[in-house]
Amino acid sequence: MKLSTRVICLFLLLLSLVFFAFHIPSSSQSIRSQNRVTQEAERITGDNFRYSGRTPKGAKLIAVNKPTRQMVLAIDKGFGSLINIAQKNGYYRNTNYSEYTVYIAESDRTKDSSGNYSPDIAIGAAQYKGTEYDQGGYIYVAGMVVAFNPNAFVIAEHQRNFQRVSDVVRYEGEHLVLYHNDRNLYRQTADHSKGGRHPILK
Ligand SMILES: [Zn+2]
Repeated sequence: MKLSTRVICLFLLLLSLVFFAFHIPSSSQSIRSQNRVTQEAERITGDNFRYSGRTPKGAKLIAVNKPTRQMVLAIDKGFGSLINIAQKNGYYRNTNYSEYTVYIAESDRTKDSSGNYSPDIAIGAAQYKGTEYDQGGYIYVAGMVVAFNPNAFVIAEHQRNFQRVSDVVRYEGEHLVLYHNDRNLYRQTADHSKGGRHPILK
């Protein structure tokens, strides 16, 4: 083996060591933070998330049951309108599908108080205690932000009215886009018990 070949081999060996040294910890770190977020989503919903996959556009899906094609397409459609409206407002950070994780929980009710089809999740009332939303310590929500890094929110599984899924994805996504692009507007609109209605971005 010529000296130059040996140098090249050594160089490649070092390069691969450097690659593994940096690559493996960072990917296991992201797995760890995803696991932490999944634990949080399980705590909020009381569900077990076993399915994991991606939408055709690259958003991450973690679900109790394998989502139907209509669910998956509705989620991409919701992100499409979110990204569109965000960029129209000059917000470019965190506007890739792949930067989002959607948890799909089992619905805790399928009809709202008026009897309309409305799959929602029951969560602890917290700051909504005593408000019109309060159902006696818990409230029903269409969706809820779970984490900001990685960006994640939870929605309920739907069997129909998939437009509602797209809307909820866009609305929960609005909080996350604002968090990363306009912290002031984020703060003003994050807590709906103090006002702030979707769509926030117009
Ligand atoms: Zn909201």
